[in-house]
Amino acid sequence: MTRSNLSFIREDLLNLSAYIPTPISENSQQLTRLDANESPYNLPSELKAKLALIYEQEIETNRYPDGSHVKLKTLITDYINESSLTAFKINNISVGNGSDELIRSILIATCLNNQGSILVANPTFSMYGILAQSLGIVTHTINRNEDDFTWDLDTANKLITEEKNTPIKVIFVVHPNSPTANCLTAKEIQWLKDLPQDILVVIDEAYYEFSQQTLVSGLPQHPNWLILRTFSKAFRLAAHRVGYAVAHEDIIKVLEKIRLPYNLPTFSQLASEFALQHRDLILPAVKDVMEEKERVYQALVNNPLLKVWRSDANFIYLRLAQNPSNENHDRIMAQLKQKDVIIRHTGGGLRISIGTTSENDRLLNNISCD
Ligand SMILES: *Cc1c(COP(=O)(O)O)cnc(C)c1O
Repeated sequence: MTRSNLSFIREDLLNLSAYIPTPISENSQQLTRLDANESPYNLPSELKAKLALIYEQEIETNRYPDGSHVKLKTLITDYINESSLTAFKINNISVGNGSDELIRSILIATCLNNQGSILVANPTFSMYGILAQSLGIVTHTINRNEDDFTWDLDTANKLITEEKNTPIKVIFVVHPNSPTANCLTAKEIQWLKDLPQDILVVIDEAYYEFSQQTLVSGLPQHPNWLILRTFSKAFRLAAHRVGYAVAHEDIIKVLEKIRLPYNLPTFSQLASEFALQHRDLILPAVKDVMEEKERVYQALVNNPLLKVWRSDANFIYLRLAQNPSNENHDRIMAQLKQKDVIIRHTGGGLRISIGTTSENDRLLNNISCD
């Protein structure tokens, strides 16, 4: 095939570097996959069998999915109302094909056509910047404080007041942050409360079930806040791609307007409904993961060659204590990979998801830092 000159493609996309997930090969069952912060546990087999039966008996494959998501939204409101003083309703919820889809909808709704830019603090979840770039939206990045990965609020405030060309319309915070695993501090939460109302504050709580910390109760007083959650982590449904947003109904209305009409496949809706209905059998494993995290943390923190940060989530972030260069971190990753252990090198450090006890042992027995 002759090479196209691709002159019909937007030039800014030719240089975009995408998010590259670890490829899943045929022998992936043998790999210890500690790179994507998923739950290490499949659904309990009795639940999976029931779900398969639902597929067999209830799904009409020739029909489009329910594009209103009413049942799923109703179950989500029940779930969030358990931990909130406010009674959220289904018009406070929008569901997406993973929270990634919702992030893109938020960007389209706020900043497209040079209407605004976004602000993030690195290191953080890379999808905000990647999706913004794919839409031609400018991302302002500031660096987190190196000691505890809190926001540099003075620099953030300065950028917010000084950016006049494409004003900052959205700030993305993660609670707890990925890859650094720290929750927002009281000071940062106060800052979010004091931000001008014409900025949308997106609080990504992908790891809520692990951290048990949420700002959902602050939504009624702060109509410029939006909370993102996902079924990809504690609910063990990463395969099904389901995320949701909780916010003021006026924001939700817009997100609903711009999403694709059938964004969520029928089986993904059923699986996430089913997971919510059986959460008493799914979520208790969070406790096991968090106990394992403490064990792995204690083992790693005792290694003088490593600098390891405390974690409010199901993963641990670390750097080499001396010479934390990309090459040295790559070398640790490559050595682990030779032993079939996959971790993630990101944000100038290594992020290690917590696996099962034997997977964690495999990591601890094989990580070598010299
Ligand atoms: C894993 C993760 C998500 C989840 O994304 P999905 O598209 O729902 O799988 C969202 N935000 C952060 C910060 C994450 O780490």
